[in-house]
Amino acid sequence: MTDDYDFESLAVGAAGDGPSPNTKDVASPIHLSATFGLDSAGYPEEGYTYSRFANPTRDALQDRLANLSNATHTLATASGMATISTVCLSLLRPGDRVVASDSLFGGTTTLFEELADRFGVEVSYADATDRDAVADALDASTELVWIESPTNPLLKVCDVEALGDLAAEHDATFAVDNTFATPYGQRPLELGADVSVYSTTKFVNGHSDSVGGVIATADEDLHEEFEFVLQDLIGAPLSPFDSYLVLRGLKTLPARLSVHEANATRVAEFLADHDAVETVNYPGLASHPGHDLAASQMSNFGGMVSFEIDGDAAEARAFVEDLDVFNLAFSLGGVESLVEHTASMSAATLSPEERAEAGISESLVRLSVGLESAEDQIDALDASLERI
Ligand code: PLP
Repeated sequence: MTDDYDFESLAVGAAGDGPSPNTKDVASPIHLSATFGLDSAGYPEEGYTYSRFANPTRDALQDRLANLSNATHTLATASGMATISTVCLSLLRPGDRVVASDSLFGGTTTLFEELADRFGVEVSYADATDRDAVADALDASTELVWIESPTNPLLKVCDVEALGDLAAEHDATFAVDNTFATPYGQRPLELGADVSVYSTTKFVNGHSDSVGGVIATADEDLHEEFEFVLQDLIGAPLSPFDSYLVLRGLKTLPARLSVHEANATRVAEFLADHDAVETVNYPGLASHPGHDLAASQMSNFGGMVSFEIDGDAAEARAFVEDLDVFNLAFSLGGVESLVEHTASMSAATLSPEERAEAGISESLVRLSVGLESAEDQIDALDASLERI
C-alpha cells in the first residue's frame, strides 16, 4: 500500500489508478472489447491485444486491489474458486505435499481431495490455530501451506505471522485465503504470506451481484506463474463488467465493514446471552479463544458469526427457514443479511465424516450480518429462537 494515503482514500481511488488519464472519468468506464487493434503484425511488447490477457477495466481494478493489499501484482479471476485452483495448479506437481488447515471453506477441501485423487498430490490437514501441529505436519517435500483466517464457517483465528515463518523455514509457499477479513480487515502479505487470495463475491464487492476473486502477491516469480496458468491455461479472468462492479463495491468497503462489524458484535453478544444458543463463534467477542490474536493482526473483526443452537438438525433447519430479515441463501458478505444451515448447504459437498472432522455439527448456523439495523436483526433472531 502506498504510504501517501490511508486505506479509505485508496479505496475510492486517491492513488489516481483509474484507467483514463485522458478522459478523466471519475467512475471507471467498462471496456467491453474482446480484442484490440494492432499497429503492425506480430505480438506487441506493450498495449492491449486480447481481453483474456489484459483489459483496461480489469487493469484498473487490479491496480487498485494491489494498492489495497500491499501487493505488487494482483490478478482478478472469474470466481474465488478460480483463485484457489490457479494457485494450486501453478505450484503443485505429482508427489508434492500440501499442508492445509483442517478448518477451510468446503470447496477448498474438495479441491485438495481431487488434487490428491487425480494428480497424486499428498495433502495433510493440521489444526492451523496450533503452530506446533503445523510444524509437525511440515517436511522437506511440502510445497504449499494453505490456511484461512478467520476460517469459514467456524471463525477460527490462526497466527498468520508465525505460520509464515514456519513455511519460510521449509521453503514452502504460504497462502492465506483472506475472504472473511478482506484487505481492509487484514493484510496477509504484510504478515508474511507469499500469496493472499479472496473471493470478491463476498465483502469486497459486497452487493451479491458479482462472482469473482483476486490473487495478490509481492513475488514477481509467483505472479508470472499464476498469470500464465490463469490466462493461458485455465482462461478464467474476471469479465470487464464484473471488474467495474467490484471497483464500485470497493469504494464503500471500509464504510460497509465498519457497520458489518458493529452489527455483528451486537448480534454475537445477543446470541452469547441466549439460553437456546450453545456456542457463538465471533472473533470480536472477548470470550473467543482467538480474540487477542485477531485484535493484533486484524483491524476489523468482520461481519460473519456462526453459532450452534441447542437443538438437533431439524430444529436448526426450522430456525433458518423461519428467520425474518436474514435471507436463507448461499454466500455471504453482501449488504443484506444472509443465513445458512451449514451442514446441509455450503458444507453439503463434504461427507458426514469430513464434516465431523472439520467440527461442523448438524446444529451449526452461519450468519452473514448485513447493514439492516441491529435492532431488526436481533428481533428477528429472538423471534425465531423463541419459536424453536
Ligand atoms: N474462500 C472462501 C473462504 C469462501 O467462503 C468461498 C465461498 O464461499 C470461496 C473461497 C469461493 O468463492 P467463490 O464462490 O467466489 O468461488
